[in-house]
Amino acid sequence: MKATAGVDSAIEALLSRVATAPVSALLVDFDGTLAPFRVDPASVRPWAGVRELLERIQCTGRTTIAVVTGRPACETAPLLGIIPPPEVWGLHGAERLDAAGWLEQQTLEVEDRMALAAILELLPLADLARGIRIERKWNAIAVHWRGVSERSVQTTRARVMALFHQAARTGRMRCMPFDGGVELCAGRNKGDAVRLILHRLAADTPVAYLGDDETDEDAFQALEGRGLGILVRRRQRPSAAHAWLRPPGQLRDFLAAWLRALVQGSRRPVAAMVSGALVSESIDRRTVGSALG
Ligand SMILES: [Mg+2]
Repeated sequence: MKATAGVDSAIEALLSRVATAPVSALLVDFDGTLAPFRVDPASVRPWAGVRELLERIQCTGRTTIAVVTGRPACETAPLLGIIPPPEVWGLHGAERLDAAGWLEQQTLEVEDRMALAAILELLPLADLARGIRIERKWNAIAVHWRGVSERSVQTTRARVMALFHQAARTGRMRCMPFDGGVELCAGRNKGDAVRLILHRLAADTPVAYLGDDETDEDAFQALEGRGLGILVRRRQRPSAAHAWLRPPGQLRDFLAAWLRALVQGSRRPVAAMVSGALVSESIDRRTVGSALG
């Protein structure tokens, strides 16, 4: 990855393809990428100007936006505030909420559900520090320590990590540290979500994936030459991404440049990318239209 942040030659090359391609895809993480972290996750909103830029990009009809996040999909769409809402791959890709409000969830094996239930019973016995928040998701358990002092969190982190690593030894689940906590997760990761999205796109479709966290590394790697991975982060770190943007300024610059490329390029209206079913996997599909607000 390049050592300097900003719009580099790899991004410029991508944008020149976006300008002429009939369809492009912009895949984005939410927390830390489109929005700053908050101690209260329900209060998180995109950085100023980001929602508007994404909305205008989507309105051109030539870029499909997909959000790939560790949050539940139904929780993310209202926080994002884009109208109409883009497709959201929640819980690291284990569920997909489309713009019409249809939610598809990967089916979890009974063994995974039982293992998660067992860990949930063990966690309160680990004598966690005050202020630690345990979040139960249908395919995961996340332990959050954002806002808790480093001194207080040290012992808790070691205990939780030991418990999660033990559970992940079977190879059926993953222990995934993230910015402000750690998660024990079953089912797809963000790389799996990106591969499913790429599968629906023509091979020459310009694609970018923007992410900040360790969990986004699976997505960067899944691009495998099909797209540009962009690390969005105040400070650079080792990453499989190809470029680096410092939010929020350089993120806004990038989105504005993407929009300019669309406007200045071909003006032919093109239908959004064809939506494909997740044919290879068992899914639970239901409508959650009301969740979009
Ligand atoms: Mg993130």
